[in-house]
Amino acid sequence: MTSNLGTANEFIARHIGPRAVDEEAMLTTLGFDSLEAMSAAVIPDSIKGTSVLGSQDGQSEADALAALKAIASKNQLFKNYIGQGYYNTHTPAPILRNLLENPAWYTAYTPYQPEISQGRLEALLNFQTLISDLTGLPIANASLLDEATAAAEAMTFCKRLSKNKASHAFFASIHCHPQTLDVLRTRAEPLGIEVVVGDERELSDVSAFFGALLQYPASNGDVFDYREVVQRLHAANALVAVAADLLALTMLTPPGEFDADVAIGSAQRFGVPLGFGGPHAAYFATRDAFKRDMPGRLVGVSIDRFGKSALRLAMQTREQHIRREKATSNICTAQVLLANIASMYAVYHGPDGLKRIAQRTHALTAILKAGLEQQGVKVVTEAFFDTLTLATGAATASLHAKARAQGINLRQIDATHLGLSLDETSSQADVETLWALFADATPDFADLAAATCVQLPAALQRQSAILQHPVFNRYHSETELMRYLRRLADKDLALDRSMIPLGSCTMKLNAASEMIPVTWAEFGNLHPFAPAAQSQGYLQMTQELEAMLCAATGYDAVSLQPNAGSQGEYAGLLAIRAYHRSRGDSHRDICLIPSSAHGTNPATAHMAGMRVVVTACDARGNVDIDDLRAKAIEHRERLAAIMITYPSTHGVFEEAIGEICAIIHDNGGQVYIDGANMNAMVGLCAPGKFGGDVSHLNLHKTFCIPHGGGGPGVGPIGVKAHLAPFLPGHAALENTAGAVCAAPFGSASILPITWMYIRMMGGAGLKRASQMAILNANYIARRLEEHYPVLYTGGNGLVAHECILDLRPLKDTSGISVDDVAKRLIDFGFHAPTMSFPVAGTLMIEPTESESKEELDRFCDAMIQIRQEIRAVENGSLDKDDNPLKNAPHTAAELAGEWTHGYSREQAVYPLASLVDAKYWPPVGRVDNVYGDRNLVCACPSIESYQDV
Ligand SMILES: *Cc1c(COP(=O)(O)O)cnc(C)c1O
Repeated sequence: MTSNLGTANEFIARHIGPRAVDEEAMLTTLGFDSLEAMSAAVIPDSIKGTSVLGSQDGQSEADALAALKAIASKNQLFKNYIGQGYYNTHTPAPILRNLLENPAWYTAYTPYQPEISQGRLEALLNFQTLISDLTGLPIANASLLDEATAAAEAMTFCKRLSKNKASHAFFASIHCHPQTLDVLRTRAEPLGIEVVVGDERELSDVSAFFGALLQYPASNGDVFDYREVVQRLHAANALVAVAADLLALTMLTPPGEFDADVAIGSAQRFGVPLGFGGPHAAYFATRDAFKRDMPGRLVGVSIDRFGKSALRLAMQTREQHIRREKATSNICTAQVLLANIASMYAVYHGPDGLKRIAQRTHALTAILKAGLEQQGVKVVTEAFFDTLTLATGAATASLHAKARAQGINLRQIDATHLGLSLDETSSQADVETLWALFADATPDFADLAAATCVQLPAALQRQSAILQHPVFNRYHSETELMRYLRRLADKDLALDRSMIPLGSCTMKLNAASEMIPVTWAEFGNLHPFAPAAQSQGYLQMTQELEAMLCAATGYDAVSLQPNAGSQGEYAGLLAIRAYHRSRGDSHRDICLIPSSAHGTNPATAHMAGMRVVVTACDARGNVDIDDLRAKAIEHRERLAAIMITYPSTHGVFEEAIGEICAIIHDNGGQVYIDGANMNAMVGLCAPGKFGGDVSHLNLHKTFCIPHGGGGPGVGPIGVKAHLAPFLPGHAALENTAGAVCAAPFGSASILPITWMYIRMMGGAGLKRASQMAILNANYIARRLEEHYPVLYTGGNGLVAHECILDLRPLKDTSGISVDDVAKRLIDFGFHAPTMSFPVAGTLMIEPTESESKEELDRFCDAMIQIRQEIRAVENGSLDKDDNPLKNAPHTAAELAGEWTHGYSREQAVYPLASLVDAKYWPPVGRVDNVYGDRNLVCACPSIESYQDV
């Protein structure tokens, strides 16, 4: 009676899909009598028992939420005037509720399968159109990670494209945000680029530079006219990037109109909460001529099988999964969810609404300035948009203290200057409060308001129209916006509809209890550069999370700063590089990478200034040890590292992992273990204990942060103690050097998701999740292996947490490709597995522990039915060209039209009887990628052009 009166922790069983009877049945299918016996058979002896995760109990959802709330409440929410690239904003409530907090949007995957992604692709196309319009540059991508890394991408972009080939010097204006300059320095050094920081107004000779970065308006508030300096830089063959504020651009001449080659910046103030620094979407826009060198993803307009307009990702051959170390960047996960929030903010407010917000912010700033001057305060800034710098002399420190005592943060510029930035949320009362801080006299707001006018230089006042496209002029009532968001979401498949079995991507449950804290004001409304005393809740949460991740991985220290797996790889390789240098081994620059590696690995090695040497895999999918040893020995004098994924991208626990690590260490290298597959290992074995020196984790894979339709993500790195001194620092932290991101904790506001997950699962629950992920994968492999060969298994015939089906033989016997199978799965209501990675012509399936046996069976039934259709093509009972696979997916419009196929309408759309009940209808037929790349359109096309096709 007394034993069970605490709050029951039901979470583990909520997170894990299969029930006890299902677990037993699946184990029986595989020939095991317990989960322990199964995992003992899967995990190689050499690494068994390396996990250091304790077996502490998890907490119930209610208890964990209460515990986190107590921590969050230690954050103090001051009124912020800090600015410096981060501004208060109102997230429109319908966007908060129907997009940011809506699993139909946040659980979607990157839109690689365009037919099931038209909704989010449209939202992203709106984002690109927004950016292109505001910057005055024709091509914009669908987001980068943050403003500072976007600036670094602009720097390397200029390096690739500048005609000044001999130059290695990049000019960065002293007026840039300091965090941007820090990340530029980090990114420049390994590439041999010299960042020259200076005042462009004092530049006499520009011939030394291949490129330049200017900030518009300047970090301290000034609006400078850059036309002359841009011309001079161009005359010297340098390219010019401008970091620009989107809200200001509604009133200012856009960079494209003063001939800038690139515009970058943050879309944060378009409705995305401050979140202590992230996640936010950065943007990147450029000239048409440079589009093929642009980093990041690009949404483009194409047509489907019926000639109807359809969206898809364009020019993917630039990306790391194709071009590897020659890619335009290493970016994979970006900031899709945040880009979509920003795009919907513009859709909701429209051009007039945005201009009103900008004009109001500007007018309040002008009134603030006039009042301050009336009080005798010296305002240094002349032309400004929303930011003022004040020369406060010896009173500076006491002014900060006085402000803080009233719950106000001002920007700390230096000992004698402070800064003030207003924003969308600022009011008359705020301006009056600020006046009162500086003097006892109270200027008359109404008088000053009547006397002030626009204070932008006449030559820089924007003349060109913005956001003329109907999409920005149609959804200005909440009812219209709500329905638009619903209509777009309904076009897409996300985890709220069906399993997304993407190998390597770990599309598992993003539990509501994990998501709820993300939009708490205590986490959402903190400025990243607020004084540390105000972020004690964040500090506690991040310290606890670091300890949790150390326990899960066996590493000694963790940095939470990297805001995607790719950035974690970069931070990890920089740590290795710095370690070698600290030992006088600065010549070590060779990075071995097995041929099966994810494309981000070689792209990252290149960014870290390393040379990639590819090592072979054997017929069983394992690293070819002889080749590895030979190459490690051949390059032993210069060996820096290996980047290896474990369990391998082939979905197996390689037995030789210990030996591989030893070979690298014996030859002076460090071992980078790509932790994307950590979902197979937590609680079972630990990379930090079986030979890894450093790993990144994808918190948006193993640790439950949702994929957001292609971001945000978090890619923290864990390191052994000897690499800990080389973890990324930040000007806002004790260790100030080597920032890889703009904010000290990267995408801080989504870290509570992982904290909640680990806290609720406890050590035992996490271990069980790994075991169940392995069980689910092996169950699928077993059910499907008689229909499709499973390409690789371990010595025991088992896979890890994912399996690769080999469809290449079917191509020969039936002409059916992996593409056809992927598209046919849409007719069954499923997102395709990972296609042709790591082996062309295969599908890689990762079910995760969150999928129930019913869902696994539903998926297997679909795959088996598809195999029967392929058989019908093989034996001629279905035509080899006109069959349900080649024509997939089938749309409702096609069904309603004339039916000319040699198979029935029922077979087309209801290949299994169970689909009649719950049918997903793709909005477009199969999308033509080649057409779209040949006729590149990357902004919302005019309504007329829709009618042409
Ligand atoms: C997902 C993945 C990455 C890249 O991570 P992002 O967070 O998308 O940058 C790297 N390696 C492997 C094996 C992956 O699956």
